Amino acid sequence: MSKAAKPLMPLDEAIATILAQVQPLQAAETVATWDADGRVLAEDVVSELDVPALDNTSMDGYAVRSADAAQIGARLRVTQRIPAGSHGTLLQAGEAARIFTGAPIPPGADAVVMQEHVQTDDNQPDQIVLGQSVASGQWIRRAGEDVAKGAVVLSKGNRLQPAALGMAASIGKDRLKVLRKPRVALLSTGDELVMPGTVAPADMKPGTIYNSNRFFLRALLQRSGCEVSDLGIVADQKQATIDTLAKASQNHDLIVSSGGVSVGEEDHVKPAVQALGVLNVWQIAMKPGKPLAFGWLNAAGTSNPPQTCYFMGLPGNPVSSFVTYLCVVWPFLAALQGMAPSASPAYALPVHFDWPRPDKRREFLRVRRNAQGGLDLFPNQSSGVLTSAVWGDGLIDVAPGQALRHGDMVAYWPFSHWLS
Ligand code: AMP
Ligand code: MG
Repeated sequence: MSKAAKPLMPLDEAIATILAQVQPLQAAETVATWDADGRVLAEDVVSELDVPALDNTSMDGYAVRSADAAQIGARLRVTQRIPAGSHGTLLQAGEAARIFTGAPIPPGADAVVMQEHVQTDDNQPDQIVLGQSVASGQWIRRAGEDVAKGAVVLSKGNRLQPAALGMAASIGKDRLKVLRKPRVALLSTGDELVMPGTVAPADMKPGTIYNSNRFFLRALLQRSGCEVSDLGIVADQKQATIDTLAKASQNHDLIVSSGGVSVGEEDHVKPAVQALGVLNVWQIAMKPGKPLAFGWLNAAGTSNPPQTCYFMGLPGNPVSSFVTYLCVVWPFLAALQGMAPSASPAYALPVHFDWPRPDKRREFLRVRRNAQGGLDLFPNQSSGVLTSAVWGDGLIDVAPGQALRHGDMVAYWPFSHWLS
């Protein structure tokens, strides 16, 4: 039998294959706008009013008729006072209205003079003298200049950010319809893993390591808007693993595991997923990364119609697991939540290092922006060195076989793209 290695699968092909299988979640819920930060909108938000509702002043000063105020030194009589929250009456020729930021422009007025450009006289408190000529329209914020009635202000499929919450509030929405959060079960494989807190560093047995993947994967999933059930480290028994996964598949949209997907690895998660559904194990042409498992479990399900429970098996090496999450799990979760695919977020920046010996696989190097507007490289790019992801502030995307010289432009993704 031929022992020729199977060609590695390009990352984009793996992502496309996975995204083609995703059925976006449909279930929505209504939450208070207060609580909607980070949630994904399940419907367009349409404004029922103009914002601002009326023409209003952007300055403290005097509303005037510009025809009366074309000359420096023009004298006007102050006949009304309009603080924010109230409204004025018709302004006659030769009159001005004392007005404060945000207050509506009274009928008849067509401009505002800043108070700094007006002289007042204590002996004639109802008179002002203009220190500047006035152009029609000056310092007026127009009705509807922010939002027009009937406009879609926030779109379905967008993840809500703080400014969007303010926008929803500005058109009177105290509640928003959002998708329910994806429910994700997280588990780790590996007999060498020890949970921090259970064994002190000085007492760690040779060959054991702390479970670090569980911590960053849980945080990453939460930042992707998921509700995470932590199933811990799976028992080292086939039937127990099948039982755990079968149960988890009934009330989760996704099961994520780390470790145990390397070639020839003996662990129970892969056979358990195969026993319960469909599993693909791929070798991806990416570094760090490479082994990746994707499939789904045919759970009987408690929901009606039953929602598929997907499975993703990430590599065990911490940096591989981290980068595979960003490159594969993140877009999967975006598609699951019906989010519009984001345009390439890459920035073109110059490398301030040489990379003379490129890999045959597409590489995602951990780098950091420097004060000169370039990128520095973390010196140890090993997939086990988590320090590279802590030191770095992003990844660069290096094509297979692409050597880099100091000054070459590369595609840089800040971690904030995935983590905000
Ligand atoms: P595996 O993919 O299971 O062969 O694991 C590859 C490497 O990653 C091994 O050195 C494992 O000890 C390590 N590893 C696997 N899972 C974890 C984890 N949860 N936390 C830290 N390291 C891990
Ligand atoms: Mg392992």
